[in-house]
Amino acid sequence: VIDDITEARRLDAVRRDFVANLSHELKTPVGAIGLLAETLLDEPDPDVARRLVERVVNESFRVSRTIDDLLELSRIEAGGVLAHEPVAVHLVVQEAVDRIRPAAEHRDIEIEVGEVPSRVAAVGERRQLVSAVANLLDNAVKYSNPASRVDVRAASDGTTVRIEVEDHGLGIPARDVERIFERFYRVDRARSRGTGGTGLGLSIVRHVVANHGGEVAVRSEEGEGSTFTLLLPAGPGPVAVPDS
Ligand code: ADP
Repeated sequence: VIDDITEARRLDAVRRDFVANLSHELKTPVGAIGLLAETLLDEPDPDVARRLVERVVNESFRVSRTIDDLLELSRIEAGGVLAHEPVAVHLVVQEAVDRIRPAAEHRDIEIEVGEVPSRVAAVGERRQLVSAVANLLDNAVKYSNPASRVDVRAASDGTTVRIEVEDHGLGIPARDVERIFERFYRVDRARSRGTGGTGLGLSIVRHVVANHGGEVAVRSEEGEGSTFTLLLPAGPGPVAVPDS
């Protein structure tokens, strides 16, 4: 019997890489929390102590966000698409925008919801689709300059639904575009740390799109901005949902 173990070896290497990356991603903030707490024990100055506590809070949120994103990713990877229902795209966009709006307001960024016809439907699982659009919006906000604008719009030609998220931010160097969908890949590690990114957002997007039989495309220019486009199979006919 001849067994081809190439694929098994590849999967094993992917798994090892993932565990190594994950350990690093968690070890860094957890190590920082330990050191900060140790310093706090002997810190007499209340102002300095307060600053240390703020850093402990930030690092703790970072661990918690990484774990939340990992759980989301593993649920999406394991479960495929649980529901195959027509999903109203304007409600997906609205829910995603509502989720990101506080972060956008915090940076004085306006999320402009353009054309999203209320009867356009995709097929699949609403929760996953909201998660994909919210992750794109989250990035658009994080990698834009304060007081700029992010556009989200959707359209359908009856076969394919197209959801676009456009920002006028930092953009992505051409050499990195291929890799940004990998788990924990960041163009600029320090910048991503500063913005609180987990490095998992676009992996979630890629899996959601794959589960739905769709595609994700990126157009980006450094210093000009980026447009991420989700292409998803359109649902059967218009969905009967009340306009909101
Ligand atoms: P992160 O949590 O670091 O944002 P993602 O998986 O969502 O992780 O994205 C991977 C990397 O791709 C980011 O670290 C960032 O460098 C780059 N990136 C993603 N979206 C954008 C965008 N809209 N503009 C510029 N860079 C982006």
